[in-house]
Amino acid sequence: MDFIDLNNLFPIKTSDFKDDEVFDIAVIGGGIVGTAIFKEFCEQGAKTVLVEKDNDILEGASKGNSAILHIGFDAPPETLELECVKRGYAEYLKIREDLKLPILKTTAMVVAWNDEQLDKLDSILQKGLGNGVAELDIITAQQVLKKEPNLSASA
Ligand SMILES: Cc1cc2nc3c(=O)[nH]c(=O)nc-3n(C[C@H](O)[C@H](O)[C@H](O)COP(=O)(O)OP(=O)(O)OC[C@H]3O[C@@H](n4cnc5c(N)ncnc54)[C@H](O)[C@@H]3O)c2cc1C
Repeated sequence: MDFIDLNNLFPIKTSDFKDDEVFDIAVIGGGIVGTAIFKEFCEQGAKTVLVEKDNDILEGASKGNSAILHIGFDAPPETLELECVKRGYAEYLKIREDLKLPILKTTAMVVAWNDEQLDKLDSILQKGLGNGVAELDIITAQQVLKKEPNLSASA
């Protein structure tokens, strides 16, 4: 990977650039989005440089998130966001074996903490089903606490 630090514009990894080196494409920002775009352009044969202002890639939100591989249950229907979430999910499953990326198959829970949130659960369920996510259900507070005993009893 070609990777330069914007602060001093000296190459800090892999190859030494010449001052007059020309690239087809510069991708700015080495988060998950930038690195994915970088990978795609490299695979298509473009001479691509990834420019990152920090000392390493993936130091921002992409490093400190909850690591849930989203399936799109709560994305706005018929949007680019939903399309990207679904394609990203499929792509991760496809490339993870080649790249030896880990995955822990589990479930996710959206927990209502009060009556107002409880009232919204059915519309979240309907949205998810409408988005093509079939394995969704509403479970009782007792079932939630059985699955996650360390959650607050107000779930
Ligand atoms: C607390 C939290 C939990 C989350 N949990 C999840 C989750 O479970 N699942 C999920 O799918 N998503 C989750 N997200 C969202 C997800 O982390 C982000 O959508 C994603 O990481 C954004 O990636 P990015 O590449 O756009 O941004 P970033 O990861 O922020 O990358 C941007 C990069 O650009 C660099 N940069 C910025 N400006 C410049 C510049 N001028 N020049 C050069 N480099 C620059 C930054 O240093 C950084 O490295 C969560 C987010 C947060 C905050």
